[in-house]
Amino acid sequence: MSSAAISAGSPALPTASPDGVPSGSDYKPRYIDIGINLADPIFRGRYHRKQRHPDDLEGVVQRSREVGCTKLIVTGSSFKSSRDALKLAEQFPGTVFTTAGIHPCSSAIFERKHKRHHEADDNASDGEDGAAEHTPACGPDPTKAHAEDGDVDLAKSAQIIADLRTLVLASPGNALVALGEMGLDYDRLHYCSASTQRHAFAEQLKLVASLAGKGKPLPLFLHSRACHGDFVRLMKDQFGPRLETLPRGAVVHSFTGSIAEAEELMDLGLYLGVNGCSLKTVENCEVVKAIRLDRLMLETDGPWCEVRPTHEGWSYLVKAADAARAKAQEAADARQAADEAAREAAHAAREAAAKEAAEKAVAAAATGTTTIGTEPAGNGRPPRPPRQKKQNNNSNQKKEPAVPDRFKVVKKEKWEQGAMVKGRNEPCTIERIATAVAGIKGLAVEEVCEAAWANTVKVFGSLEWRDRAALQKSIDNIYT
Ligand SMILES: [Zn+2]
Repeated sequence: MSSAAISAGSPALPTASPDGVPSGSDYKPRYIDIGINLADPIFRGRYHRKQRHPDDLEGVVQRSREVGCTKLIVTGSSFKSSRDALKLAEQFPGTVFTTAGIHPCSSAIFERKHKRHHEADDNASDGEDGAAEHTPACGPDPTKAHAEDGDVDLAKSAQIIADLRTLVLASPGNALVALGEMGLDYDRLHYCSASTQRHAFAEQLKLVASLAGKGKPLPLFLHSRACHGDFVRLMKDQFGPRLETLPRGAVVHSFTGSIAEAEELMDLGLYLGVNGCSLKTVENCEVVKAIRLDRLMLETDGPWCEVRPTHEGWSYLVKAADAARAKAQEAADARQAADEAAREAAHAAREAAAKEAAEKAVAAAATGTTTIGTEPAGNGRPPRPPRQKKQNNNSNQKKEPAVPDRFKVVKKEKWEQGAMVKGRNEPCTIERIATAVAGIKGLAVEEVCEAAWANTVKVFGSLEWRDRAALQKSIDNIYT
């Protein structure tokens, strides 16, 4: 079954805010998912090194397009994922664009004790749970001990940065649109110590400045978790107290900081990416409310960071779905009233015609003339309109969920073509992010979408596909 067939049955999320601010009737939302880990093998059906279902990446991209999310900026968070992202750009030209960088949780490669070569295929020797194969899950894990302060190997570090520079310079004209993911994550110190993270971030920021000096100014895709002070300090150390030498814009994605932190970053000219992790609590939603429209970008961060029923952001989806249902009911009621009025008018017209014909017949009989063919059928009585079927509101129908799924969702064990996989977030859910943000801000979805689109294009460029041949050549260079 095609995904289109599956989507047909379920109502789309509304394009009006819960408080009823209408969006343009012809408006079709358009989205750019600025942070999607599409190179993660989970989108090929691989979970912790086991193939659990067929590769359904095409379906993921198709569902994304169906909701209007036509551009995907695929996160490169290690050498492998950065290269895999470039391969996806080739597979989905004009849809997939990429970033390249070393995520703070992948920064242990800068340390002496890290054994594997930093460019090694992550599939080769996963941890026992296969975690290394996947992009690190979003959020702290209190069960894991913090990594000890590592000994950064400066020679290794120089090689990593040189290799990253080569990867960026070898990438084609417009497939790679940003450097990163890079930054700091003090919530997940079990992957890499804070001191090594700071080293890796500072070195990558140096590379950003150096590339800009060589005529390759790129925007930044940044990660900042529970580390605001150090994060801002390292940015200012490299680009000046007002980030005045930052070559192009930068977005701090998956923002979960405080209002004060958001304001400081926005005042420094940075953009903030909002996904499900930014919508978990009442406080998170207050922060989203404080993010200015001209600083907002939207993302899913799939396969992570979906909006869940336990999250505060979910309540805005429920309100929006209720509003959409009420609107649909209103329209149905209006249609029914119009149909009834039309039926009554037709009935009255038929009665009038029958009466006129009967009167004529009486008059003709009185004068001795007859008129053939004017006698109404059924003894002058027009047929009754069909009885209205009573609406059955309390039947045994399956109850519609509070927030309808646009696409069918199944467990990975019960995978089927065209369905989403439960717990694996994907770019088509970006409409939920926009809907929740619109609800929180009391705006129409259209306003949120258009602002985010404009901000994204301003920072990352127009995301138009220009040079397929150059991309292929570049990928050949990387792999040979
Ligand atoms: Zn991140």
